[in-house]
Amino acid sequence: MPDHKYNHDITVIGGGPGGYVAAIKAAREGKNVCLVEKNALGGVCLNEGCIPTKTLLKTANLLDEIRHAADFAIEGLDAAKAVVNMAKLQERRKKVIATLVGGIQALVRANKITLVKAEAKFVDAHTIDAGGKRITSDYFIIATGSDVFMPPFIALEGNNTVITSREALQLDAIPASIAIIGGGVIGVEFASLLNKLGSKVTVLELLEHIMPMVDPEVSGMAKKRLEKAGIAFKMQAKVTRVKDNAVHYEMNGKEETVKADMVLMAVGRVPHTDGLGAKEIGIEFDRRAIRTDAQLRTSVPNIYCIGDANGKVMLAHVASHEGMIAVMNILGHSRKMDYDKIPSCIYLDPEIACIGMTEAQAKEAGRNVKIGKFPMTGNGKSLVEGDTDGVVKVIVDAELGEILGVHLYGKHVTDMIAGMSVAATLEATAEEIIESIHPHPTVSEAIPEAFMAAFGKAIHGL
Ligand code: NAD
Repeated sequence: MPDHKYNHDITVIGGGPGGYVAAIKAAREGKNVCLVEKNALGGVCLNEGCIPTKTLLKTANLLDEIRHAADFAIEGLDAAKAVVNMAKLQERRKKVIATLVGGIQALVRANKITLVKAEAKFVDAHTIDAGGKRITSDYFIIATGSDVFMPPFIALEGNNTVITSREALQLDAIPASIAIIGGGVIGVEFASLLNKLGSKVTVLELLEHIMPMVDPEVSGMAKKRLEKAGIAFKMQAKVTRVKDNAVHYEMNGKEETVKADMVLMAVGRVPHTDGLGAKEIGIEFDRRAIRTDAQLRTSVPNIYCIGDANGKVMLAHVASHEGMIAVMNILGHSRKMDYDKIPSCIYLDPEIACIGMTEAQAKEAGRNVKIGKFPMTGNGKSLVEGDTDGVVKVIVDAELGEILGVHLYGKHVTDMIAGMSVAATLEATAEEIIESIHPHPTVSEAIPEAFMAAFGKAIHGL
């Protein structure tokens, strides 16, 4: 490489957080890069996922704080009069997105990446058709993302108002009531948002616990908090159909229904590869996901696949990291993704953030574990913030002190989990976290306390 018989060294298909990061990384490494994107740069994350959701949640949480202003000695506000102007909120959402999309466009331009605004389809392993134009490349990176999963096992009958997360972000009025199918991350984040904006929310979840990736002790606490705020949960409820906005579900062998003004479908996402022509050129799939090896290479050696399209872990930060790893491998390195060290953040109030195994997973893996917990009631900053709901729960290998899992529930924890991500990369032990000075007053002080608690030695705990 470079092989000058092709137009580009590396062509990236899809400009989301996986694709645009891969393209910039490749350009920074001196490669001649093409980026093909049919819609706006930034992908689902920026345009209809992470960023707009958090923009709306910011307003909902602020409204909630205004309603509790008297708890912080603020008088003179008529909190009952505080309302959200949805049209203005939508303008703010669009402005935040436009600013970030503009930033990515500038980075793409500054890195001299050829941006082609078209839909790509493989012609052969070294050629794509992009809106009638042929683009040849030594290597390709597929980063085409995912779509909302509309499950075939949930029948839609009669006259329904069924929306997905995409439409939920664009609401110009809040429905009086909403039934949310699926108690995963999307389901609970929208439940929290719409509840704060005044909707009567019911969440229907197939499993015993909401947010299956979170330690049940933590997700249980979050569920209690959401219930206290007025959200109803139907657990172990298998939704089978929606008819005229009535959600029918099976529970304990009986059929029950929940009727609402709107129904939000949140039972997962599926890799998006339609129209890509990948199968036709010999790329192998695992069901709907493009199969990749540990180095993110597909079954066609000069084509890599990153992000939601490979169906491994559907998170923006995973896609970005995979993008950098794929580029390094194309450059001749031998890098692998470590899927055991991925932080995950859930934007409830307070927040959840976790990394590694749950207690049950660690025990299933045959590990002899010590568990450390520190409640936020013992953390000064949480009290200052006016919210002591929460806990730090750590799972440690009893003999080696290896950190197996960290689960945080509390104020600001989505910003704190990065420290545990660094610790995981450095393979830090519980002892080393305890030795690391955590600043006061911060919520982060609860982390070393939890590790000390694992050995029965918490300073501020009983
Ligand atoms: P998910 O897979 O996390 O959750 C879907 C839920 O639907 C599961 O709990 C499942 O048990 C339930 N379910 C499935 N069939 C059902 C049925 N018939 N009746 C009732 N419940 C049923 O999917 P999601 O929440 O849609 O999220 C999609 C992806 O987007 C995930 O990979 C998620 O990690 C990612 N995402 C992440 C964030 C974040 O990190 N903050 C935010 C949004 C989305």
